[in-house]
Amino acid sequence: MSQYEIYALKYAGPFIRTGAHVMWYRDWDKVETVNYYIWCIKGAGETVIVDAGVTPQMAAERELDGYVNPADVLARISVKADEVRHVVISHMHFDHAGGVSLFPQATFYIQEDEYRFWLENPIAARPPFKHVSDAISTGYLASLEGTDRLVLLKGDQQILPGIQCLLSPGHTIALQTVAVRTTGGTAIIGSDCAHVFRNYQEDWPSALIVDLVGWMKTYDKLHQRVSSPDLLFPGHDRLLTENYPEVARDITRLV
Ligand SMILES: [Zn+2]
Repeated sequence: MSQYEIYALKYAGPFIRTGAHVMWYRDWDKVETVNYYIWCIKGAGETVIVDAGVTPQMAAERELDGYVNPADVLARISVKADEVRHVVISHMHFDHAGGVSLFPQATFYIQEDEYRFWLENPIAARPPFKHVSDAISTGYLASLEGTDRLVLLKGDQQILPGIQCLLSPGHTIALQTVAVRTTGGTAIIGSDCAHVFRNYQEDWPSALIVDLVGWMKTYDKLHQRVSSPDLLFPGHDRLLTENYPEVARDITRLV
């Protein structure tokens, strides 16, 4: 049975956010520190990257503090970005999909409904959506449509033995999370279904909501699928770098 380890790789931050960004519509008077991450799943002779980070050009345009090219972060654990074969894109916000061109050999796995929304729905061009997306990486993915480098998933689908993408809407139209078989049981890389662990613990969403009812149903689904609550990982919590064994600079082994 294939089993995997999961690593969190910080590529930018820390950033200071109002509490209401991290815990939706509350904690207005608090501040929270967050980081930007990609994740690496390793085991059974395979390497799968979850999310692509952003390119150096985009990091400069968006003035991202503490930015390091995700390819350089991956090199610290001997993963060569230009040889990676599998990249799961959780959703198409710029900080998750903006770095797709850093993986020139990869097959990208993305939910078809997520992809079509950003590419074809006129609402995606309106300010609140445009603000968090990136035309260059969307265009890069579009240029791969019809080739074997872009796999459009419909709902829950296994991509490798022991690695399953789960449709998890709420934060975006069709965000997907990744369930991974580990020695500790099924872990879930939840990306932005939660910014921080507290979202899961307190059953409370974070910011940028397209469907609040869907978001709560997603929480039910993830809690059902994960082997234990501590194996459900958020997208931006600084604790991902602080509470786990560091295997290289800014890289921790979550499980
Ligand atoms: Zn997001």
